This record gives sequence, structure tokens and C-alpha cells, in this order.
Amino acid sequence: MAPSAAPSAPASSSSLSSQQLPPPSSILIIGSGVFGLSTALALARRDAFSQSSITVVDRSDSSQPGRFPALDAASVDTSRIIRADYADPAYTALGDEAQAQWRKQDKPTDLGAHGRYHEAGLLLVGDETPPAPAVAAPPSEEVLKPKLTGLDYARISWSNVVSLASKDPELAARIHELPGPEAIREALGTGGSSGSWGYINHNSGWADAAASMAWLVDQVKQTGRVSFVPGTVVSLERSGDTVTGAQLSDGRVLSADLVVLAAGAWTGALVDLAGQAVATGQVLGYIDITEDEQEKLAKMPVILNLSTGLFIIPPSDHVLKTARHAYGYINPTIVANPPLPLSPDQPPTQTTSPISLPRTAVTDPSLTIPAEAAADLRGALREMIPWPALHDRPFTKTRLCWYSDTPTGDFLIDYHPHWRGLFVATGDSGHAFKFLPVIGDKVVDCIAHNRPVDFRDKWAWKVTDARARTAVSVVTEDGSRSGRAGVTLEHALAEGS
Ligand SMILES: Cc1cc2nc3c(=O)[nH]c(=O)nc-3n(C[C@H](O)[C@H](O)[C@H](O)COP(=O)(O)OP(=O)(O)OC[C@H]3O[C@@H](n4cnc5c(N)ncnc54)[C@H](O)[C@@H]3O)c2cc1C
Repeated sequence: MAPSAAPSAPASSSSLSSQQLPPPSSILIIGSGVFGLSTALALARRDAFSQSSITVVDRSDSSQPGRFPALDAASVDTSRIIRADYADPAYTALGDEAQAQWRKQDKPTDLGAHGRYHEAGLLLVGDETPPAPAVAAPPSEEVLKPKLTGLDYARISWSNVVSLASKDPELAARIHELPGPEAIREALGTGGSSGSWGYINHNSGWADAAASMAWLVDQVKQTGRVSFVPGTVVSLERSGDTVTGAQLSDGRVLSADLVVLAAGAWTGALVDLAGQAVATGQVLGYIDITEDEQEKLAKMPVILNLSTGLFIIPPSDHVLKTARHAYGYINPTIVANPPLPLSPDQPPTQTTSPISLPRTAVTDPSLTIPAEAAADLRGALREMIPWPALHDRPFTKTRLCWYSDTPTGDFLIDYHPHWRGLFVATGDSGHAFKFLPVIGDKVVDCIAHNRPVDFRDKWAWKVTDARARTAVSVVTEDGSRSGRAGVTLEHALAEGS
């Protein structure tokens, strides 16, 4: 639909956005992760934007020019869970829409082909009494009681996917309740178990994230419509109340009528996101396994315990990954360049105010995960795959991977309320990868003032109070998180040293 024909924008998008019409002649997308690249693809394919130039810039590795996105982007990894299993029916429906694309694998160019998607099943479990978090809270920290527990989330998700599958008896027959640890053990098939209640959904699975992103880059390049620029944006260019482009670290300026900020967990470095979203670091550990072990685990489903956040995805290429979906760590950082303030009439954010920003092995090669996290991942491995040979096998690699977390776990896909020419597509909250085949179209719908009805409020820029704006952290309360909120990476690293 052409933007000029679209319904009016929701209140939070403000009248500023209507002044973007007709379609911008130039669009700059900052970030080439799932959000940025899928948006580029959707724009390039949409008639309404056929006259718009589209540029994607990413701080991707300068030693590998042409490699998008950056290696430490959240979108790049061995695997990601693909599911419609959500406690929120709107995301269940969106997940279902995405899965229809992931399942396509007849042609080599189909998204799910070439081992990019595996429908291995998902075992979603929770504990009646969740274990206490291993990391101690700093004395000043508020200990939160979640509104929804991991077990609540799993039970609601069960009811959502059962309802979704009720349209098709074949899909319905692939979902089974697992009322206790023994049923969970049997469904897992490794000899291990986790949680006190759960279900298995054989309609879910996992994707090879790096291969899927390479597929997406290829799709974008094939349109012949998108220019890729390697470079790090240090600030947004402004003129009055309008964002006019971005300045790169080498001094170049990329100008555009519309800037789409899709910089993942780094977004807060470029625009003031206080109270909207915050970068949180999540932990992963990888171990090498033998051919025999790979074969034995070939049929295991993905397992995710929503009370502990710990999960294991079936191995590929002899690498087994364990990870934790939790509140994560914040990394308060003093930035040299203040981000764009909330509105043109506000002074720049004080450079002395810390912002949580990613710290990764790309920028800090000596970085390791905190000892409590390594112990937690090890515990998951021993519980979920209790094989003596794996018990103490060292992690070949560990990683901190960064979410852009919002208070509700909803994405943030909206025009900036106070700056013309600026659109934000971030707030992934650790669950956006599965939407790779559909999220770009939704972002473009939002750019065209046609936000999907079910996400009208969820994806909007939120009005926040002063308290939320002064907190360094944002706490995601969608029921899927475990651990302690607001722990700094520095504190967690120091605890184990
Ligand atoms: C440990 C972990 C496990 C996860 N598991 C799942 C899962 O099982 N299922 C699922 O659906 N999702 C999962 N996710 C979430 C999913 O990976 C993310 O939601 C998604 O990848 C976010 O995409 P993005 O485009 O917002 O961010 P990113 O992929 O991080 O992309 C942002 C890009 O912006 C670039 N950038 C940042 N700042 C600048 C700048 N100043 N200048 C230029 N470029 C810049 C970065 O280099 C980066 O390439 C997981 C995430 C993590 C971390």
C-alpha cells in the first residue's frame, strides 16, 4: 500500500510522521541484523518505494569488507529457536506466519532449504518452584517478583499453540503435554530432564542463524536496489527538528530523507532510549562433540526451561550450544558522543550519564562470561544431557550476546515521537530472529502508517515517566525471564574472580 493511501498513524507516532509522505527519496538503514536487513528487503520489493534509494550501513568487520552484519550482531550465531510458542497470542500468530516461510524448502533458494531450518520440535518446560538465581544482587538492587512466572508462560503458551493447531488435526497431533519430569525425560531422549511440567511441540524447531542471515543478505543483494556501506555511525545528523542522516567514524556523512535506526542493542548509543529499551548481555557456551555424539543427539528436540532460562539447541557441525535467556547483565557505559536527545528542545544527554551498551569479544577479545554463568550453563548441560563424557568437557567458546530489552518484551517499531525523519526498529527483547521472513514487511507497514492492529500499542514508542527515564536499566517482564534483574556485567565478572 502506498504511504499516501495509508490510514493515519497511531497517536504515539505523532503528526510528524504524516509529513514523511510521499515516500522518502532516500532511506538510510543503520544496522544489518534481522531488523535492518529484512526492512531493506521489504522496502526494495514494495512498489511504493520503487523510487527511493536504500542504503544499509553496518559496523561490520573492516577486515572483511562486504560481510554483513557484524560478527557480534545478535542475528549471527550457530542457531536460533523458531517457534510460535508464546504466552502472547499476537506473537503466536506472527510466529505461525513466519514458520510458514521457514518450512519452505523445495527449492534451494527457499528459506528453509540447505539445512537453514530444522523442525526438531521444542520442549518448553517450567518449574513449580524456580531455583534461586546464582548471582548475588548488589545491595542497592531491587529484587523483583515477576508478574508471570516461567511456568505460567509455558502453560499459556501451551494453550495458545493448541488453539492455533486446532485448525489442522495434523498440527494438533504434534503437540503433547508432559505432566512431569519422567514424561519430559522421555520426550527429550537424552536421558536428561528439566522442569516439573511442560509440553513438546513438534511444529517448532531451530534455524542456522548465520546461514539464514547469509541467505537474507543474498536476497537483498539480488534486488539490485540496496547499497551496502561498511562503517560505524557515531552520531545522527540533525537540522532543526529533523534527522538528516548519519556521520561515520571516518568523518563521512550519509544523508537521507528517512533514517531507520535498527542498530540492535547499540541503538541507545545513537538516540536517547531511556525507559524504552536497554542493552542486556546474555550468555552462551559451545562445546565440540564427536561424530558419535552428534548422531546420538540428532533427534533431540530444542529444550527451553522458562523458569531458569536455560536452553539447549540440537547440535550442528559437531558443536553443541547451551545458552540462558534471562534478565541478563547491563553494561553501564559513559559514551564520548551523547546520543540524540529525546526532543530537539532538550540539551544533549549528559556524557556523564551511563548507558548500557554491548561489550563483546569483537571489541574486547579477552572478554569471558562470568563464572556464575559458566556454572549455570554447565549445570544445564549436566541436567539436560547427563552423559559422563560431556560432564566436564570444557567450553570451546563462550559468548556474550546482546538483546535490546523493552519493559514488556514487545519490539519498538515506530517513528520517533519528536524527531522528523527518524524511525526506530529495535527492542528485539531476545526473540526477534524467528520473524526474519516477516518482520521487514511489518516494519515497512509501520513506516507506511499501517501498523498491524494486534501490535498497534505493543510496538509504539511509549510515554515514560521520569523514574523510568532516569533508570539505567529496563526490566523485561514478559514472564520468560529468570535470574536477577539489573546486575552489571562488571559486578558479575568481579564476583567470580
Ligand atoms: C543469546 C541469544 C539467543 C537468542 N535466541 C533467539 C532464539 O532462539 N529465537 C529468536 O527468535 N531470537 C533469538 N534471539 C534474538 C535475536 O537474535 C535478536 O532478536 C535479533 O537477532 C535482533 O536483531 P537486530 O537486527 O535488532 O540486532 P542485531 O542483529 O544485533 O543487528 C544490529 C546491527 O546494527 C549494527 N550497528 C550497531 N551500531 C551501529 C553503528 N553505530 N553503526 C553502524 N552499525 C551499527 C551492528 O553491527 C549489528 O550488525 C537471541 C539473541 C541472543 C543474543
